[in-house]
Amino acid sequence: MTEAIIQIIRSPLELQAVSKELRKNGKQIGLVPTMGALHQGHLSLVEKCKSENDITIVSVFVNPLQFAPNEDFEKYPRDFETDSRLLASAGADIIFFPTVSELFPKNVIAGNGFSTTVKVDGMSTLLEGEIRPGHFDGVTTIVNILFNCSLADNAYFGQKDAQQAAIIQKMVKDLLMPVKVNIIPTMREHDGLAMSSRNIYLSAHERAEAVILFKVLNHARTLINSGVRKSELILAETSKILSESSIAKIDYIRIVHASSFIDAEILSNGKYYLVIACRFGATRLLDNLFIEIIGDKIILQ
Ligand code: AMP
Repeated sequence: MTEAIIQIIRSPLELQAVSKELRKNGKQIGLVPTMGALHQGHLSLVEKCKSENDITIVSVFVNPLQFAPNEDFEKYPRDFETDSRLLASAGADIIFFPTVSELFPKNVIAGNGFSTTVKVDGMSTLLEGEIRPGHFDGVTTIVNILFNCSLADNAYFGQKDAQQAAIIQKMVKDLLMPVKVNIIPTMREHDGLAMSSRNIYLSAHERAEAVILFKVLNHARTLINSGVRKSELILAETSKILSESSIAKIDYIRIVHASSFIDAEILSNGKYYLVIACRFGATRLLDNLFIEIIGDKIILQ
């Protein structure tokens, strides 16, 4: 199979100029922000983006702003050659692959360095934001820059990082940003483990144990389908399953309103997430179940 030619752009202003030209020519632009080390989950976002836009831009950038000093920024997996090959076969049009120094120049002369933070109050300090202070500020700041460089009409984010997607939706709504945020279902391995660039950190034993997260979500599914609506009950039952693993260390397991990430005590008409963050050895994994109740109808995904 011959791969389509893919354009690799490193300069933020060059991407902005190219996108301006594309828009002038009436092209609809879709953006998929990633940190690289691509897997099928990322590629499902690219596929969706391609099906809904004339031009698909994928950013590959390990964003230092969203890592705390004690986190895995340095050792985060990077393999641009494989990523660009995968993106070319997936039919993406442009890869935006900026350098840290160009996006975030250091303050060599006072006032000349990067000094802006975009912060969504409230939601960005809950759950993931509580455990990783400042993480979401790093995310919203980079996503803003990516929106401004790509001039995207549509942006695609994974449900796997549901809180991140909800925070970006809130930012776009509050700031009236002219981009539509699309949330795409989680792609899973054959045994149900959510695909993640960090899964490669898991030892064979941790990898085998990590499937318990999917079992927890499935058990919650069964309980909700059988009519259980009290979060406390669902969480107590599902936590029992998690405790079957001797190595799973729960950071949190909660049922929250989908738009605010505030705890929901009872599932009534509305949208919710059951969110889990769990450590297996040194690796933190996230997963979630989307829950929507409309009268007698229940949507679980
Ligand atoms: P990352 O490179 O981990 O920052 O992820 C880039 C985008 O891909 C984010 O919007 C993630 O939510 C999304 N993503 C990560 N894993 C998956 C998955 N298993 N299925 C679908 N989307 C995913």
